[in-house]
Amino acid sequence: MKNKQLRFGIAIIILFLLVGLMIAAMQDNKDKVNNLKSPTTTDQSKDTAMPDKIVKSDEEWKQILSEEQYQVLRKGGTECAFTGKFYEYKGKGIYKCAGCGAALFNSDSKYNSGTGWPSFWSPVSEKSVELVEDNSLFMKRIEVLCYRCGGHLGHVFDDGPAPTHRRFCINSAALTFEAAADSGESQK
Ligand code: FE
Repeated sequence: MKNKQLRFGIAIIILFLLVGLMIAAMQDNKDKVNNLKSPTTTDQSKDTAMPDKIVKSDEEWKQILSEEQYQVLRKGGTECAFTGKFYEYKGKGIYKCAGCGAALFNSDSKYNSGTGWPSFWSPVSEKSVELVEDNSLFMKRIEVLCYRCGGHLGHVFDDGPAPTHRRFCINSAALTFEAAADSGESQK
């Protein structure tokens, strides 16, 4: 009788052990699947904070852009002052990147700086542009790039009007314009 109880007890213990092992194995598998599905912490912050980057080859950019847009956006060129189509433009709407279409500047932040280039005191969002040090042409300047496609837009200076006192000096060739729906303006 005692022997039978002992065997029964051992059988129960083995059963519990097996069930325990199965649950542990299932949990382990679940963790592996979750790890594959969710990005690392760094990637996650990038996904939520920044728009997706656009990467194209030089040849691909040449095919989509006009020669002037290509020289400015991809080669860091600067259009001649007082020649661009937006330096005096006063339409209400959003200025977008001529390379990738990302929204960059609102017409509400555009002002006449007298420099001959479209000037804005703020981008639509700090995340829409990337600011990098530019030491070319024996000058220390801050270059403004489109965050999404890395296209060269212009430079930013600290002599702008309130509230930011910044002057985003941008090439017209790097921009397209989308008129506000109620403005009666056309797209440029
Ligand atoms: Fe862009």
